[in-house]
Amino acid sequence: MSSNLTFVSQRSEKKNYGKPKPIPAYFPTSKKSILIPNFEFYDRVKAAPRKLAATHAVPVRSGKAWKASKGSIVRISTPEGPQVCDFNCWEANSGFKEHMWASRTRQLHSAHVSVYDKLWSNLPYLRPLLTIIDDSLAGYGPDEHGGRVHDLLGTRCDPYVDKLLSGEDNDFHCHSNLYRAIREFGGEEEHVHDVLNIFQLTGLNENDQYFMETCPAKPGDYFEFFCEVDVVCAVSSCPGGDLSDWGWGEGGTDSEANVGDMSAKCRPLKVEVFELENPEEALEGWESPQPVKYQGNHGF
Ligand SMILES: [Zn+2]
Repeated sequence: MSSNLTFVSQRSEKKNYGKPKPIPAYFPTSKKSILIPNFEFYDRVKAAPRKLAATHAVPVRSGKAWKASKGSIVRISTPEGPQVCDFNCWEANSGFKEHMWASRTRQLHSAHVSVYDKLWSNLPYLRPLLTIIDDSLAGYGPDEHGGRVHDLLGTRCDPYVDKLLSGEDNDFHCHSNLYRAIREFGGEEEHVHDVLNIFQLTGLNENDQYFMETCPAKPGDYFEFFCEVDVVCAVSSCPGGDLSDWGWGEGGTDSEANVGDMSAKCRPLKVEVFELENPEEALEGWESPQPVKYQGNHGF
């Protein structure tokens, strides 16, 4: 889990250049800005009567994809306790072209997300695919190391980086789990994209290096969002489990890699899709967002 071979270019000591504290770069420019949440609307949606439309079990070290209509609600939970969930999302009618854009979402909101934050799509679309409306871990962190939950800083684990770092071939990383899951809807490997790591506790250390801590989720913790457009979603129950004993390599007890038995730290995930019972009432005044109407000349 650790190495004294690490090289890092970044220093930990701060230097004082005498400059003023910068403001966040992406800020609302008017009171009508979409960056200012419509608190009343999303609170109303969260509280509105709903009925369960579908339930999906996600066993350990597997992936699952599903469709959800605009105006529906999706809840992802940890029924048996701590487990990291790697999440992907696409606009359902775009042939996997319009997908969640982790880095722009990070800039528009923050590097970790929670209630009232949206997940934005890539170019040339740039619209909210979903808005988070409930989060049982919303009060968690930042901890003493700067760790926060629901991470947009990192990305999925994948078999290529594992082979690079451990020399082993492993077939059940989040990248592969997501790839297998979206085949059901015609998705290919190239459509798997940078993830939202739900329930994952991460941050940057004093040397600006990405770190992961043990997932703080308890049985029944959940993360819930409102679908702004028709979506295909996919999750992977990460083979690192709750990340309390993770490492590179498969992580079995007979592994020679520098890691314990990760499989013992893996738990299932659960997905529930809800439809609003009275959508006309609950969604009054709401319109599904359209892509940004840039004229598209690009200086040509
Ligand atoms: Zn993973």
